[in-house]
Formats: sequence, C-alpha cells, structure tokens
Amino acid sequence: MKNPIGTFYPASQILLDTRFFNTLQPAQMRDGMAELVKTAVIGNKTLFNEIYKNRGSIQSKPLPENWIIKAAKVKAKIVEADFRETGLRKILNLGHTLGHALELSLGISHGQAVALGMVAACRVATAQGLCKENDTNKIINLIAACGLETTSRVNYKKAEKLILNDKKAGWVLPLGIGAVIWDQEVDLQTAIDAISP
Ligand SMILES: [Zn+2]
Repeated sequence: MKNPIGTFYPASQILLDTRFFNTLQPAQMRDGMAELVKTAVIGNKTLFNEIYKNRGSIQSKPLPENWIIKAAKVKAKIVEADFRETGLRKILNLGHTLGHALELSLGISHGQAVALGMVAACRVATAQGLCKENDTNKIINLIAACGLETTSRVNYKKAEKLILNDKKAGWVLPLGIGAVIWDQEVDLQTAIDAISP
C-alpha cells in the first residue's frame, strides 16, 4: 500500500477465504493454478514437488488450503524483501511479460497466457544452460496437468512481433525449481524458438 505522502507499510495480515474457490468455474480455477505453479517455481520447491506429486488428481479434487497458504507466504516474503520494488519483486512476473503480450494478441485468459509465458521462459532458460531440461519438463508437465495449454500456436512471424514489441522488458528465467533470476536479456532467435517451437 502506498499513501499520498509517500510512506510505505507492509500488510500486517493476509486473510484467505478458501471457500471462495468452490464458487469458481473450471476455467477460473485453471487460471489460478497457473499463478500457483508460478509462485511455487519462483520460491518454494517443496510446494512445487507436493503439487507435482498430486498432479494426477489436480483437476478433480479441491485445492488443498495449505498450498494456497504456502503460495501466499512466498509472495509476502518477496514483497517484504523488496518493499520498494527495486528488483527482486520482478520475479513475481515470471511468465507475465510475454504472457501479457499473448493475452492481448490471442485474446486468451490471463492464467493461460501466463502459463504459455512460463513455458517459453523455461525453454529459454534451458536453451541458455540456466535450467536443467528435467526441471523444465517437470514445470511444463505440471502446467499441462492443470488443464492448461502448453503450446502457444503462434507462428514464427507473430512470435517475432510479440518479442520485438516487448523488447525493453527483461526476462525472468528459472534457474531450476524454486529459484529464478530477473532482468535477463534473451536473444531474438532463442526467444522465437521458445515461443514457436
Ligand atoms: Zn498474473
């Protein structure tokens, strides 16, 4: 929260009412899952592994409350560590830079777009030798298990346009599950290959 005289206060409490999840449509649940997977990838390997272990029933069972709490804690920790948004907080944008471009140009939901953005970021990270292929495959498998598309179906030309439009924004790239770096430059060809494989 930022007030007009410029002082900052962290949230003193986070309230979660998971009963709310029962009211969501499957498509909205999937959107939420994309953000949950993102949060686990950037900051909680144990949470990721727990979700991964349960991926077979992820779409048929209610979402465990403790997953949401763990994800909220990851987010709170990052926001607290980078209260004035100088850097670290950018990792919350994993999949979002490209995701926003895909959301607008393809007219798909936010969560689906973020999922595709994450898939591309993982592929880029593996192509650059930053993230083991096995970790990238696990992340992509989990995204698919949530019922989200993992192939963006954009052609080479369109992928090129999306990236060029978005050139000023640095990429957030996974170094594996539970660790990411931000402000990374990615060359055009690597990015296009990741989006339009
Ligand atoms: Zn988002």
